[in-house]
Amino acid sequence: MVMDCVAEYIQFQKASPTPYHVVATLESMLQQAAFRELHWEDPSWELLSGQGYYIKHPDLKAIIPVVLGTSSPVETGFLIAAAHTDSPNLRLRFNPLQQDEVSQMRGLVQVHGGIIARSWLDRPMELAGCLFFPSGSMEKNGLPHLAAQLVRTSHPVGVIPDLAIHLDREKNRGTPCSLENALHVMLGLAPQGSKDPWETLKTCFGMESDSREPRGFDLQLAPYGDHVVCGMRGEYLTGPRHDDLAMVYAVAYGLSQSLSIRRAASSIAIFCDAEETGSLTSSGAESMFIRDVLRRIAISHPSTLVSHYPAWCASLAKSFLVSADMAHAYHPAYPDRHDSQHRLQIGGGLVIKENANDRYATSAYTSAVVQSLCEEQAIPVQGYVHRQDMGCGSTVGPTLAANLGCRVADIGTAMWAMHSTGETMATQDLTYACRFFQHFFSNAA
Ligand SMILES: [Zn+2]
Repeated sequence: MVMDCVAEYIQFQKASPTPYHVVATLESMLQQAAFRELHWEDPSWELLSGQGYYIKHPDLKAIIPVVLGTSSPVETGFLIAAAHTDSPNLRLRFNPLQQDEVSQMRGLVQVHGGIIARSWLDRPMELAGCLFFPSGSMEKNGLPHLAAQLVRTSHPVGVIPDLAIHLDREKNRGTPCSLENALHVMLGLAPQGSKDPWETLKTCFGMESDSREPRGFDLQLAPYGDHVVCGMRGEYLTGPRHDDLAMVYAVAYGLSQSLSIRRAASSIAIFCDAEETGSLTSSGAESMFIRDVLRRIAISHPSTLVSHYPAWCASLAKSFLVSADMAHAYHPAYPDRHDSQHRLQIGGGLVIKENANDRYATSAYTSAVVQSLCEEQAIPVQGYVHRQDMGCGSTVGPTLAANLGCRVADIGTAMWAMHSTGETMATQDLTYACRFFQHFFSNAA
């Protein structure tokens, strides 16, 4: 299973440079596994037990797949797993281009999330995202309708060059990299004549010069190139966006494997956007979109006989949610940054995260449930506790726990250099995560 899973994950990563592409890649995986689309704007959903469905958020950056069990969620609750589609990155500004004092065209970027800035320097970059074109039609409320088109450059279109050591002798003593000025991407020689930024962007995307111009865009930089398996025995997997696409992939893998298994409880995966900026968006973990989709599935299930509010509450009360995000592996060059009793090992198994200040949602109860599931599959478990004198990160677990009120465990996989463009995790840990979610969604009655 190890290399199959890793090879598939590398392909998943290759197809998914932005949250839009993550959702599109997931959609195509789900369609191949015979999941059917439900539309959020459709007021009536006709559901069949045993069938797989998915609902996309209209901003195209979040998707919720579900496998309907044979019993009503009012009786069983939901089995839920959550992971996030976004990763820290660089995104083009509203006015995206600037010609420098010589003749280079620069793409001006703003920062999404907590990037490790220097990891973006001196490597080829591609540009990907979504363009929005007037469709010529109107929405029923009279607003103009825009058609979305996912785009991606077919080759690396730029680089963010560092400053030579000869021009900054203090560089190796930790000179900060300016988030405002130092991260703009060099796109090549500025075209003669035209000042229209879209003329340059068309060149980046290989579009005809007379092709129509979008009314809006969300274009993001992504490091160019495949993820690489390395280590003496292929222990490591290095590349961007393991946080959190490794967990997105593992959850999607587990859910799609469960489709052929007939079981009572309905299984749901929540793939939401904007975790890196606090989740407070319409497609983030704070969004009512998630609660509304769960509620509609609960009341539309063919075995649900009562659809009033208490029935929906009963389905939440019985639910169990696993929030999956990456964790900090022990780094031997920086032993003082880790709790000496909780040194996560790369390749050491699934991580359960606990925090007494509730930065993670795991309770003693939910930790015990996850440990039991791992024991059933002989998956090793590691407990993570952040140093008490350093600020602890967080993830979607506490947000979803507060908004849904159900039981939640925060788990993950250990990695080095979180938020770098070259994050490193263990190939073995990816298979542990895939096996865990397959078991979570497929075991029991
Ligand atoms: Zn994350």
